[in-house]
Amino acid sequence: MKAVIIGGGVAGPVAAMALQKVGIDSTLYEAHPTGAHGVGATMGLSINGLAALQILDAHRAVADAGFSCPRGVMWLGNGRRLGEDVPTSLPDGTTAIQLLRADLYAALHEHAATRGVRIEYGRRLVEVDHRGDQVVARFADGGEAVGDVLIGADGMRSATRRFVAPDAPRPRYCGIFGTNGFAHSLDLDTEPGTFHMVFGRRAFFGYVRREDGCVWWFVNVPASKEPAPAELAAIAAEQWQHRLHELLAVDASPAARIIQATPPGYDWFVSHQMKAPRTWHRGRAVLIGDAAHVTSPSSGQGAAMAIEDAIELARCLRDMPLTLALPAYQQLREGRLRKVHAGAQQVNRSKSATGLGRVLRDAMFPVLMKRFGSPQALAWLYNHRIDFDSKVTSGMG
Ligand SMILES: Cc1cc2nc3c(=O)[nH]c(=O)nc-3n(C[C@H](O)[C@H](O)[C@H](O)COP(=O)(O)OP(=O)(O)OC[C@H]3O[C@@H](n4cnc5c(N)ncnc54)[C@H](O)[C@@H]3O)c2cc1C
Repeated sequence: MKAVIIGGGVAGPVAAMALQKVGIDSTLYEAHPTGAHGVGATMGLSINGLAALQILDAHRAVADAGFSCPRGVMWLGNGRRLGEDVPTSLPDGTTAIQLLRADLYAALHEHAATRGVRIEYGRRLVEVDHRGDQVVARFADGGEAVGDVLIGADGMRSATRRFVAPDAPRPRYCGIFGTNGFAHSLDLDTEPGTFHMVFGRRAFFGYVRREDGCVWWFVNVPASKEPAPAELAAIAAEQWQHRLHELLAVDASPAARIIQATPPGYDWFVSHQMKAPRTWHRGRAVLIGDAAHVTSPSSGQGAAMAIEDAIELARCLRDMPLTLALPAYQQLREGRLRKVHAGAQQVNRSKSATGLGRVLRDAMFPVLMKRFGSPQALAWLYNHRIDFDSKVTSGMG
């Protein structure tokens, strides 16, 4: 079997390595001229994602591209501590990490390349078609690639999805936009690697100190109307710094100080989420990662879900003929994805609450945290481990 993989973000290189492990040859086609784009954006990779990468012996290479972040602490803007989150680490001591998105892409690409995965850059898919018993990918440069299966790992604006699920729901705005930054030379009294999340009065703020003292942070600002990226970029950085300071100074947290200690200059992102379409496959083409379902950044799970998808798909292709493997893969994944989506929606609602909604949120939060934020309540998410060696006999496992 030969696989054509579209997209070299997170899901694509992981799919290529997982397919190699089960003896399926693949070539990966990435639209950008290189694999590392969006240089400044930071992200967290959760322990379930790293556990999935361990199946491919790729978890250490990725963990070494970031820094260990084993603990999360949640706060209200009034300084009340809501609780903490310490997902179990892997048996070799690997914990959840923070890293630059570009470094995650680079680590996965390097790891895949050292294993002999073929990656062609500057190849943008424009059309998918079937020819006899094969599937054909057509590229913007006029070329094509032919395979037995085509895996669409081409992200939120997936071109493969237009073919597989033309009536798929559109990504929907989640009520928040945000940015991130790095503060140096700041004396902050917090343990390195503890991620603080502050549900503030006017905005949500996350920050963590690295061993070398640099503070990584991000902010989510509520806005009922989706802002256009150009609208955000049109406001001068100094004005934004002043505005962010105003939004955050009302809270009992170091957020405003961190903003002041960061040279102004921001890349903005607008949060979206997209429900998975009814079917994730059509003929010989199948969707994985954000191409299949966009989980908003608030879930902290988008990359981990993309990794788990890629590995489960390889398992199904190893154990079943294609016509059964693709539905089985969807069945294995969709319930988990729905739960991650629902969780992210809840977090987004909390982050975007204003006025009376925010007052109610603050009143209810401690109770909700006990119910939904405890380690036991989150075990289904963080303790999920793919049993790669067990044979898939149906979509139930
Ligand atoms: C601001 C922000 C913060 C985030 N924070 C987190 C976080 O903390 N934790 C977390 O787990 N997730 C986070 N995410 C989500 C995470 O980045 C995504 O879920 C993850 O990257 C999905 O991986 P993917 O491979 O499916 O898609 P992508 O990483 O988007 O990769 C898709 C790839 O396909 C390529 N491509 C697109 N179209 C074509 C085409 N037509 N032909 C060929 N190639 C194409 C793209 O260039 C890209 O390389 C965040 C996302 C954002 C935007």
